[in-house]
Amino acid sequence: MFSKLPISSKTEKILTKSLDEAITVEEANHLMNIKGTDLYPLLATADYLRHEIAGDDVTFINNCNINFTNICTVRCGFCAFGKDAGDPEAYILNDEQILTKAQGAVEKGAHEFCLMGGVLPDADIEYYEHLLRLLKGEYPNVMIHGFSPTMINDACTVSGIDIAEGCERLCDAGLDTLPGTAAEILTDRSREIICPEKVNVQEWIDIVKIAHEVGIPGSATIMYGHVETLKERVEHIDIIRRLQEETHGFTEFIPMTFMHEYSPIFLEGQSNLGASGIEDLKLYAVSRLMLRDLIPNIQVSWVKMGFRFAHVALTAGTNDLGGTLGGDELSEASGAPDGVEASIETLEGMVRDLGRNPVERNSKYTEFYPINKGIEMPTL
Ligand code: SF4
Repeated sequence: MFSKLPISSKTEKILTKSLDEAITVEEANHLMNIKGTDLYPLLATADYLRHEIAGDDVTFINNCNINFTNICTVRCGFCAFGKDAGDPEAYILNDEQILTKAQGAVEKGAHEFCLMGGVLPDADIEYYEHLLRLLKGEYPNVMIHGFSPTMINDACTVSGIDIAEGCERLCDAGLDTLPGTAAEILTDRSREIICPEKVNVQEWIDIVKIAHEVGIPGSATIMYGHVETLKERVEHIDIIRRLQEETHGFTEFIPMTFMHEYSPIFLEGQSNLGASGIEDLKLYAVSRLMLRDLIPNIQVSWVKMGFRFAHVALTAGTNDLGGTLGGDELSEASGAPDGVEASIETLEGMVRDLGRNPVERNSKYTEFYPINKGIEMPTL
């Protein structure tokens, strides 16, 4: 396949092997470090595997983020969104405000509410059950993608129950899927720098495993480009794939590039500027070669990368464009380059311009709704 291309023999050997089986950690580390003319064969291989495994549909979801509070006890070093309880900009949405936001999203055809926010002091499991029942009571057919392993861990501690009981209660109250947030980078060395108050690697694995076992599937993320090494990126993806081999509970994998501009760790000189565009593309491609059909859906986060680069990233092994979002205050606080809301028309145009098929989906990738508004070119 690569005989006419100027490519190193080691890279060629790994890419050829990847056409039939998942690559090893050592092989992934080699690919994360390639430069020059080895890059495009890697991207082409990842895109070929995407075509073979996920086909030519590019999915996305009509959804709405409901950021119910920005008060947060955790205060991660990379986050420009969380506030202390007494901060003049701190807020907690009341029931009426949450339902008003939800109603606006439903009127635009939302299939998902993404319930995200800070980790409130003293929030117990009843508080999160209340939010779920509030929304499910009014909108039983809209899926709820919400909370994080850190929130669940804290709420179970406050309520004096174990994680399994907490997850079962959230599932009964209507939690459909768990976002992959709080994964950040799954190595304790980096977590000590960027989010020392969050659950550690083993706690994150244990909580996600229990959530999957009680019937709450969810996404897996990686947030990279801050203080971690290239090897730690591979280590993270390998943890995700080993967990998926056990639970099969991950619906998608979402690489999220670090947005440095307003991040406290960057402003204090403790982090990098973020990943380069080439590093972003390598991460998508290597993820595809490591995860293959074990996690067939790999998502491009347009809100982190901007529409133009997200468009390019769809050619590096990815098959999902995330959601329309209807706002995302966490990304907005970090300086989202193209805003925090996408129209269906913009996403359709991006997909059609690649010669692929735009398809709306639900949170669990179990229902699909092809889009045909006739938009061939995006206005980006
Ligand atoms: S990333 Fe989440 S947990 Fe961390 S400070 Fe921000 S809101 Fe809090």
